[in-house]
Amino acid sequence: MSDLDILVVGAGAAGLAAAIFAAETAAATHRTARIAILEGAATVGAKILISGGGRCNVTHDSVSADDFAGNRTFIRNVLAAFGAGDTVRWFTALGVELKCEETGKLFPISDRARTVLDALLQRCNDLGVGLYTSQRVDQVERRDDGFRIATTTGAFEIRRLILATGGRSLPRTGSDGSGWQIVRHLGHTVTPTYPALVPLVLHSDFFHSALSGVSHPAELSTFVDGKLADRRSGSLLWTHFGISGPVVLDASRYWVIAHTDGRQVDLQCNLFPGASYESIDERLRGAANERPRQSVARFLGTELPERLAELLVQHAGIAATTTLAQLPRAQRRQLVHTLTALKLPVERERGWDYAEVTAGGVPLQEVDFRTMASRRVDGLYLIGEMLDCDGRIGGFNFQWAWSTGYVAGRAAAAHTEREENNR
Ligand SMILES: Cc1cc2nc3c(=O)[nH]c(=O)nc-3n(C[C@H](O)[C@H](O)[C@H](O)COP(=O)(O)OP(=O)(O)OC[C@H]3O[C@@H](n4cnc5c(N)ncnc54)[C@H](O)[C@@H]3O)c2cc1C
Repeated sequence: MSDLDILVVGAGAAGLAAAIFAAETAAATHRTARIAILEGAATVGAKILISGGGRCNVTHDSVSADDFAGNRTFIRNVLAAFGAGDTVRWFTALGVELKCEETGKLFPISDRARTVLDALLQRCNDLGVGLYTSQRVDQVERRDDGFRIATTTGAFEIRRLILATGGRSLPRTGSDGSGWQIVRHLGHTVTPTYPALVPLVLHSDFFHSALSGVSHPAELSTFVDGKLADRRSGSLLWTHFGISGPVVLDASRYWVIAHTDGRQVDLQCNLFPGASYESIDERLRGAANERPRQSVARFLGTELPERLAELLVQHAGIAATTTLAQLPRAQRRQLVHTLTALKLPVERERGWDYAEVTAGGVPLQEVDFRTMASRRVDGLYLIGEMLDCDGRIGGFNFQWAWSTGYVAGRAAAAHTEREENNR
């Protein structure tokens, strides 16, 4: 292993992409680069295999820096180097045709994440990239012209190191945050990290469990210390423990970060996304004129899932049999408030085992966006989820892995070639 040109630590999406692009860059200049990946887990690509419900949402038809939380300029530059279109062309070249669904999410036409993983592994194999599993890297020491790497089975020295150890989401896949200890030891900082794209647990006395499995459009607003921090719309899914679904997962990072930091945070749900208090009040008054004898719950049940409508009416303190005409002004106002600003009593997030991504990590300003090279440690590259950048639901986090892997792989190979030429 000490003869290696480039060592990649972590065989997740980012590490596999980096190794492939490094090897392709070297091959393009008729060089055989000695590139290897060390993976701590016994098997490779666990997260790819379970991603997107086992279908792997590889990217999105439109990806911009606005789809991520993190330094926008940095992210924009990385995406400019390798964006969604490049991802589609790359996978096509790897033999994986992608299809775009109505939501804009791209999946392999096979609907199997295995197709994606197999293609990446096959490409590594074709390019002569060595892949070693059950090789957890415990320590990295800086040397004059490279690094001394200590793994579970031994130690060796290498010149260029690409760290792709991921974050802390779903630690049983091998991504347990150990990469951050390594970079800290090398002189980097790591911002506080939080589970993101994570379901939220509601207080047990709320009505969520009676709705388990029901989903509908919703607008979620997160208020931190009384100020609006995030507002977004999408599908909300009620579960036996609380809430999930795309809009909840996307909003979760704002609730989690504020709550963990000890701030006052409120999550409110508008059951009529985009509609104002006044417009819903107007609608209820209009309905009372048109069909005075219809029950409030029955009327709402034409616009919302019936069971939800019943529970909302109850939550607003209105008897189930109350008709639209019988609804007093104060109760109508209470109901409109419930419909447009339902307070969701979040107790906690569901934890790392259910989080799809990590918010926080190595600050992007400690990395050069043109190369993904560390600005603090010569010869070190940092990519993927271990960086302080997280995308929303929809294929953006894999896009970040492919993009940063592309930039780092090419840069590390080009640098190695320059070094060889100068020798
Ligand atoms: C359930 C689930 C579903 C998801 N679905 C999607 C989706 O459909 N689309 C999407 O865009 N994103 C999805 N994501 C997010 C996406 O999977 C991640 O953002 C992405 O895989 C991160 O890639 P990575 O290579 O940076 O890190 P990881 O995939 O976490 O890979 C890091 C690798 O490094 C290894 N490693 C860690 N420490 C060491 C060490 N010390 N020594 C050696 N090896 C080490 C780990 O074992 C792991 O294999 C999903 C995530 C989850 C949890």
